Amino acid sequence: MAAIQSTKALVDDPVGGLLTVTEGMMHYLTRCCGASAKGSADGLVMCRACHGDVGPELRAAWMLDDNESWAWYQDRLSAYYGDQASLVANQIRQQAIERTHAATMALAEMVNSVMADVQSVGALVDDPVAGLLTVTEGMMHYLTRCCGASAEGSAYGVSGVVCRACDRDVAAELVAAWTVDDDQSWAQYQDRLSAYYGSQASLVVNQIRQRAIERTNMASSAA
Ligand SMILES: [Zn+2]
Ligand SMILES: [Zn+2]
Repeated sequence: MAAIQSTKALVDDPVGGLLTVTEGMMHYLTRCCGASAKGSADGLVMCRACHGDVGPELRAAWMLDDNESWAWYQDRLSAYYGDQASLVANQIRQQAIERTHAATMALAEMVNSVMADVQSVGALVDDPVAGLLTVTEGMMHYLTRCCGASAEGSAYGVSGVVCRACDRDVAAELVAAWTVDDDQSWAQYQDRLSAYYGSQASLVVNQIRQRAIERTNMASSAA
């Protein structure tokens, strides 16, 4: 049986069991597998990992900043803790806030740790997909690691893509380009990043897109 330590749950509460927080969302983990729960077609709530019936309580989920839901949760806790319920609820909420803050800091560090080459060429980020990603006049594109130049297709060479400055062969991925306001391309990019960042990929993408928008706005107001 999954316990608090093994699942990294915040608490084992008397309402639904192993309560945790993921990207600002409070939710339960199943006792069988320590997995999240999901609704099934026949209205039951089942374990996402083993598909076992886990009971309706595990369906509960609410956002960390949703006061109304916390009041509801405290209400349910008061059946067990009486007038101590608000203390218990506040303590759990505090733990959830700390955990979320720690995760955000770790993410920022992860993004910053790959920023070494980034400043010298004016890239926004050094991503694990193709490297030095930047934005020019609203167009997202990569810069080559050899020269910090853009890449272009070539009839010669192995990859069919070369550095525009030195004609060296570079990875075919470097030819990728999309506009800052193209949601579909950002979704595809997020898809590729999720191979590296898992469920954090959307956070990473939003951070990069935000930087690209800021850079573009700065450039247009300077012009
Ligand atoms: Zn299970
Ligand atoms: Zn080059």
